[in-house]
Amino acid sequence: MAGEPQADCLFCKIVSGEVPATVVRETPTTLAFRDINPQAPTHVLVIPKVHYPDAATLAGAEPGVAADLLREAAEVAAMDKIDASGFRIVFNTGAGAGQTVFHTHAHVLGGRGLQWPPG
Ligand code: AMP
Ligand code: ZN
Repeated sequence: MAGEPQADCLFCKIVSGEVPATVVRETPTTLAFRDINPQAPTHVLVIPKVHYPDAATLAGAEPGVAADLLREAAEVAAMDKIDASGFRIVFNTGAGAGQTVFHTHAHVLGGRGLQWPPG
């Protein structure tokens, strides 16, 4: 069924607690944890607890949860005090764009100068 946990999904395993993560925030619908390979002083992943492969698919199926994800990304930025200096919310979508985990996740990046356009 849409949104159900997938046995072979790393981030579903983090939601269930089967795989450990450095969790920094949790809500009824979302989880935020530090990226294992940080690309900036703040690099946090915000994920929905439900499984959808990418952000657009989540937004189509459960728009309220997609909104929760964006709200939580801002909360993470405030928590790490990068909201004033500026931060980036990235949803890599598709292997060609660098997506490697096919469970929706927002990268929240900040704490250093961020180039535009990104590589
Ligand atoms: P993406 O390439 O956009 O799919 O992002 C996947 C992200 O997940 C990468 O930045 C990885 O460093 C990160 N990642 C992979 N495994 C873990 C893990 N066990 N805990 C935290 N972050 C992870
Ligand atoms: Zn999943």
